[in-house]
Amino acid sequence: MRVVVDQDLCGTTGQCVLTLPGTFRQREPDGVAEVCVATVPRTLHAAVRLAASQCPVAAIRVIESDAGDDERAGADPAPCPAEAERHAAKDQRNTGGHDGTV
Ligand code: SF4
Repeated sequence: MRVVVDQDLCGTTGQCVLTLPGTFRQREPDGVAEVCVATVPRTLHAAVRLAASQCPVAAIRVIESDAGDDERAGADPAPCPAEAERHAAKDQRNTGGHDGTV
């Protein structure tokens, strides 16, 4: 699955960013929404469809696609800020080589 935002339609409400901060972000300085993943992981398909259905101006378009998308999911070289912060926080906690998870 892929998702796109029609930036000419976007009303800059930020609803999609609040719903899925790892998938959408608002660009500086105008607040227009952007998609920050190349493809949507399968675990987020329902949430992305929900975000699209809740966009007040119907600016979010979901593109259902063939299998194989998940292999490329997360391949975006520029993650959303919220995602980058999570990775940075995890890196800081993981200085000893084991993060305590099993
Ligand atoms: S919910 Fe729709 S109008 Fe609001 S920021 Fe996202 S794309 Fe733009």
